[in-house]
Formats: sequence, structure tokens, C-alpha cells
Amino acid sequence: MTDCIFCKIIDREVPSYTVYEDDAVYAFLDITQTTKGHTLVIPKKHIADIFEYDEDLAQIVFSRIPKIARALEKNFPDMEGLNIVNNNKEIAYQTVFHSHIHLIPRYGADDDFSMTFKNNGELYSADDMAAIAESIRKNVSN
Ligand code: 5GP
Ligand code: ZN
Repeated sequence: MTDCIFCKIIDREVPSYTVYEDDAVYAFLDITQTTKGHTLVIPKKHIADIFEYDEDLAQIVFSRIPKIARALEKNFPDMEGLNIVNNNKEIAYQTVFHSHIHLIPRYGADDDFSMTFKNNGELYSADDMAAIAESIRKNVSN
């Protein structure tokens, strides 16, 4: 896609720091380096977000993540963990609309990444949960 910064990075029109590359996948350092080694994994095919993957492309892209994660772990002996984040649509903090998966190494509770999940479990009865799950289940298709 002509106006996409990540397509330009894949095509080397815009420079980046390559972490991993094969025929279908490119991984490079995120410019912000939220934590040291913050990496983005992207399909070379331009798709906007998670809703546009077919099973084959998902298999290709997501299967690369464990080995890139292990490379980060091996490379940074002080890395204690890894957050994997994938934002989809503006409301969910997506700012670049070429699908990408953030790999964010964690070095301690006070490093520069944080994420909180509010616990709203008490708002849902067991029947509510069963109905929600059943309703979603009916929408799963190939
Ligand atoms: P999002 O907010 O869409 O999940 O993440 C987009 C990410 O792309 C941001 O973390 C941002 O730092 C990164 N990014 C945006 N433009 C560039 C760029 O030109 N080069 C690199 N390496 N990263 C970029
Ligand atoms: Zn693109």
C-alpha cells in the first residue's frame, strides 16, 4: 500500500532496524523502544488489523512469534518476561493501520510498560457468562 509507513519499511523506502525477516514476515525495532528491544512483527502483505487475517496468514505470522520471543530472551539476560500486544482499531490504541504485534520485553515492575485489567467479574452472573459465551460461539466461523 503506497501510503503505509510499514509497507515502506518492508520495501526499504524507510529505514528500520531488522530483527527477523523471511518471505512473509518482517520484524524490526519499534522506534519508541518502550523497553529495550521493543519489537514489531508484521506480515509483509498489507492488512489493516486482526480482522483481515485468513487462517494461512495467521499461521504464518503468529508462528514466528515464539522464536523471535526466544531470541529476545536469549539476547537480553536481564529480561524477566515479555508482553505481546496487538492493538486493533483506533479505540484500541492502534495508530498504524498495517497489522503488527508488539513484543515488549519486561525488565521489572518499574520499567516503562504497564497494562491494567479492571476486574468486572462481579457484574456478570454465571447465566450471563454462559449466554455471552454461547452467543460468541455461534459467531465463530472459518
Ligand atoms: P500501535 O499504536 O498502532 O499499536 O503501534 C504502532 C507502533 O509503530 C508505535 O509503537 C510506533 O512507535 C511504531 N512506529 C510508528 N512509526 C514508526 C516508524 O517509522 N518506524 C518504527 N520503527 N516504528 C514506528
Ligand atoms: Zn502496509
